[in-house]
Amino acid sequence: MAEEKLNFQAEVGRVLDIVVNSLYSDADIFLRELVSNASDACDKLRYMGIMYPDLIAEGGEFKINITVDKDKKTIVVADNGIGMNHDDLINNLGTIAKSGSLDFLNNLSGDVKKDSNLIGQFGVGFYSAFMVADKVEVRSRRAGEEIGWLWQSDGKGSFSLAEAENVARGTEIKLFLKKTSAEYADAIRLRQIIRQYSDHIAFPIYMDKDGTLETVNSALALWTRNKAEITPEQYRDFYRHIAHAFDEPWLTLHYKAEGAIEYTGLLFVPEQTPFDLFQLDRKPAVKLYTNRVFISDDIPDLMPSYLRFVKGVIDTKDLPLNVSREMLQRTPVLEKVRKGLVRRLLSELKAKAKNAEDYAKFWNSLGKAFKEGIYEDTENRETIAELSRFYSTAGEDLVSLEEYVGRMKEGQSSIFYMTGEDAEVLRNSPQLEGFEARGVEVLLFTDPIDEFWPQAFPAYKDKPFKAVSMAGDELEKIKSAAGIEGDEVTKADLDTLLAYMKLTFGDAVKDVRTTDKLVRSPVCLVAAEGDISLNLERMMRLHQQPLVRGSARVLEVNPRHQLIRKLAEALKDEAKKPMVADAVMVLLDQAQVAEGEPIKNPAAFMQRITNFMLNGI
Ligand code: ADP
Ligand code: MG
Repeated sequence: MAEEKLNFQAEVGRVLDIVVNSLYSDADIFLRELVSNASDACDKLRYMGIMYPDLIAEGGEFKINITVDKDKKTIVVADNGIGMNHDDLINNLGTIAKSGSLDFLNNLSGDVKKDSNLIGQFGVGFYSAFMVADKVEVRSRRAGEEIGWLWQSDGKGSFSLAEAENVARGTEIKLFLKKTSAEYADAIRLRQIIRQYSDHIAFPIYMDKDGTLETVNSALALWTRNKAEITPEQYRDFYRHIAHAFDEPWLTLHYKAEGAIEYTGLLFVPEQTPFDLFQLDRKPAVKLYTNRVFISDDIPDLMPSYLRFVKGVIDTKDLPLNVSREMLQRTPVLEKVRKGLVRRLLSELKAKAKNAEDYAKFWNSLGKAFKEGIYEDTENRETIAELSRFYSTAGEDLVSLEEYVGRMKEGQSSIFYMTGEDAEVLRNSPQLEGFEARGVEVLLFTDPIDEFWPQAFPAYKDKPFKAVSMAGDELEKIKSAAGIEGDEVTKADLDTLLAYMKLTFGDAVKDVRTTDKLVRSPVCLVAAEGDISLNLERMMRLHQQPLVRGSARVLEVNPRHQLIRKLAEALKDEAKKPMVADAVMVLLDQAQVAEGEPIKNPAAFMQRITNFMLNGI
């Protein structure tokens, strides 16, 4: 077959451009990425070789060779793993399979350190070769196939592909270093980078030293070693390798489960929010091994979705090696491993939660995802709720449900909460006035999932969760601090005013009723019982969900407010009726504004306000 010239997929072009032009300062990672790919390739073939021994007829001793030519300024990273054929080369090194690539581009922060961290995570690791090389040659032959291929590119939009002679099984990547990266043509430098980033790669990495091949890494599967022999640095470097990360692990959990199912787990909770925490096509992060043989890194149910930020390795002796992936996913062994893992992680989190300051770090980075467990994990929801933290009106600090319950007032039976996008906006909501006046704490729910989990988990320690808009007369029962008992309007006058308001609003509201929630404000707007909350409605509108057309709300009135008293009074005077009509319309619009909602008819609103000002001045 003659040489083909092909263009990179458009996204690859952009990624390359960024990799080459913006990420120069952390160029060391190119080697980590190439070695990681070589190791993956060996892992894959080792696993397939168990089922199809023919594939490893050419040898089953997996290894990675790194050669450097100081004079020619070249580096070669070679492996005898699975290799790539014609189509693999085009698909793997010419496109970005994951749709996440566009997000990658959008996620770049401009902060070089952070961005180079993202490169590995986004699975564009191979392209990091172009950080240091202005030309890359890939020679590859797929295990079990006869024809080898040469792929070449200068990383500027296109690559070429042709058949090649004498290509060994596996992949050989040759970098022609840029003038500005000539420093890497140095064996000592490369050894140092390998030791830092790739020490625990489970295959030997060889380099030539004075004519003999020497292993550079310790090539031990870290998780199989004795805990006491592993240093924190080794754990950290392993975490960075497996997560393609640069941060520190917030939690390192290394343990052996014994009993019905035996397995070893080496798991990490990152310190920073992974970029793809809320992306559906994120890479699964826990690798499954059987007796040190890599099986898969994409078994969907190994970790429940709310713990998707956990990275690491599970190695179990109890899985048969020669079964298909589909079968694997259905074995009860995995289900048991998963249950054990979750239990273990939750108990570890419990221990960590004792240090509030440290725990807040975890919560701020990952709490949003973790909290989904209250909804998702029927078995552990109580524990997950206990481990969750919330903003609250009690102060700036995150609080636990335990703390909240401990602070409940006499006469208070519910855990009150209010949902919205922003804690600071919520703190100023008129709906909280009555709670504040009574010293009743309210939890501020600001994550989308907060709209949903209280339905699945309606009470904590027998205390029901209750939205402030549904507080009803519970608030009245709670002894109030001084200052909220103003004179109420007489019942008859108030009823007349409410009836008049209802008449004036027509279909614009579902109901008008009195409330104890308000102190400074005359009115507020709430969702009717059984309707979706204002916040959820806003969220759905934002995501252009068709179902929502703004259901009518309930207007709640503060019977002690001076303005309400005056309006009730004014209503007795026939001549003042038109003014009362205008005033109640303005009140409705104000309630709308206080909820962060647009006014339905701004022109009419302005006209009324203008009239009031004219009369007042
Ligand atoms: P990732 O490793 O996250 O998938 P990379 O950009 O590092 O992303 O690599 C892209 C793909 O190219 C890999 O998924 C793999 O299929 C293929 N690949 C890269 N290097 C090798 C190699 N040494 N041997 C076999 N396949 C490789
Ligand atoms: Mg890779």
